[in-house]
Amino acid sequence: MKQDYVAPPYRIKMVEPIKITTRGQRVKFLKEAGYNPFSLRSEDVYIDLLTDSGTGAMSHHQWAALMQGDEAYAGSRSFYKLEKTVKEITGYNYFIPAHQGRGAEQVVLPQLVTQEKRYFISNMHFDTTRAHVELAGARAIDCVVEACFDTATYHPFKGNFNLDKLTQLIEEKGAKHIAGIIMTITNNSAGGQPVSYKNMQAVRKIADKYNLKIIIDGARYAENAYFIKQREKGFTNMSIREIAKKTFDLGDIFLMSAKKDGLSNIGGLIVIKADETLYNQCRTYIVPMEGFPTYGGLTGRDMEALAVGLNEALDENYMQHRLDQVRFLGDKLQAAGVPIQHPVGGHAVFVDCKKIAPHIPFNEFPAQAVTNAVYIEAGIRPVEIGSFLLGRDPDTNENLESPLELMRLTIPRRTYTYKHLDVVAKAVIAVYKNRNNLTGLTFEYEPPVLRHFTARLKPKK
Ligand SMILES: *Cc1c(COP(=O)(O)O)cnc(C)c1O
Repeated sequence: MKQDYVAPPYRIKMVEPIKITTRGQRVKFLKEAGYNPFSLRSEDVYIDLLTDSGTGAMSHHQWAALMQGDEAYAGSRSFYKLEKTVKEITGYNYFIPAHQGRGAEQVVLPQLVTQEKRYFISNMHFDTTRAHVELAGARAIDCVVEACFDTATYHPFKGNFNLDKLTQLIEEKGAKHIAGIIMTITNNSAGGQPVSYKNMQAVRKIADKYNLKIIIDGARYAENAYFIKQREKGFTNMSIREIAKKTFDLGDIFLMSAKKDGLSNIGGLIVIKADETLYNQCRTYIVPMEGFPTYGGLTGRDMEALAVGLNEALDENYMQHRLDQVRFLGDKLQAAGVPIQHPVGGHAVFVDCKKIAPHIPFNEFPAQAVTNAVYIEAGIRPVEIGSFLLGRDPDTNENLESPLELMRLTIPRRTYTYKHLDVVAKAVIAVYKNRNNLTGLTFEYEPPVLRHFTARLKPKK
């Protein structure tokens, strides 16, 4: 079925010029950046698809709300406005702001870990979530459906939990050793792939059977709700606000990076349904980590903009256009034969670079080679999600081989036009056609941890 793509439900009131560079300049910039686009200056990037986190455009309602920020250290009016919005959307009882998603994680996750409770199971842990699970002294286990790793085959909900494996893992580790089940919606690491309502409901049943808590890691909960509306039987006539509410009913704790579906440049949420003891622990612990519990590292004006953004992300005209933009780019690439994670998810198109550059071994980073070529081609900055990002085995120091070598083309919210995405498609297709000329990369400098952010590479001759 061929579907059209809707026009944006907004018009442009302010513009930010972006620089068009020459191929010769880009070759030089990339060399100076050590063949690592993280080290490029953003002003040398024409279309920046590094991330959808905090990179969206705010509405005039949000900019107007900024002016109403109450910067009181304690009990700010802006806090109460945000709290009211969060409680209305989730139906939960307790709310604490944090500076972003990882801030929420560093406060909440350690409260759930004890000597006995030392495993978290998730469909797929996002990398900062995994890091905070490990920093808290626990272990992170992923439990996603196999279809997630088969990029070519259609599955409407590639973010779903493998339910048999979930039960099996709980039995194997022992329910008393499970600190919680983390439901990541959408599944960021696999391409913003959604989780079905039916699957989440089944996870709730399993959690109840073993008396376990469910933590919703819901940076893109509104996008997930829209996919449920589109793809799952029985939800077509429900609003995404209602679907989101039904989703929250299945959880105990909701952690959110508000830089995504909060339509804000910064912000995070800690929301607790009913556990007052946990709420009090978090309120105490947040003070030295993020700040006093009525600001949690945010300014009053940040909280104002976020309160507005959370509601705007639940507007279905906004959401339809958002997801159509991602689908538009995916369709263009697919029509030209470029292998992508199919169907596309909510916030990005993931290009399968193992299939584009099978001649480059995993430890010479095929997806990084494709990413760099796309920058040279048209000044577009995607990001590698593969073996370069994965790093080394902490015990053996060997390079780990990622099951997928992906290039993520992440679409910021309300920021670029369909025409920009045409430019992106054209560049990726040109690189794809020239794929036999791509060469691998080796290290010039490799930091010991989180190497992908600061490493310097050079092309292998
Ligand atoms: C972005 C993200 C986080 C971390 O949030 P930050 O705001 O980047 O700290 C956690 N979980 C998921 C699923 C995310 O997408």
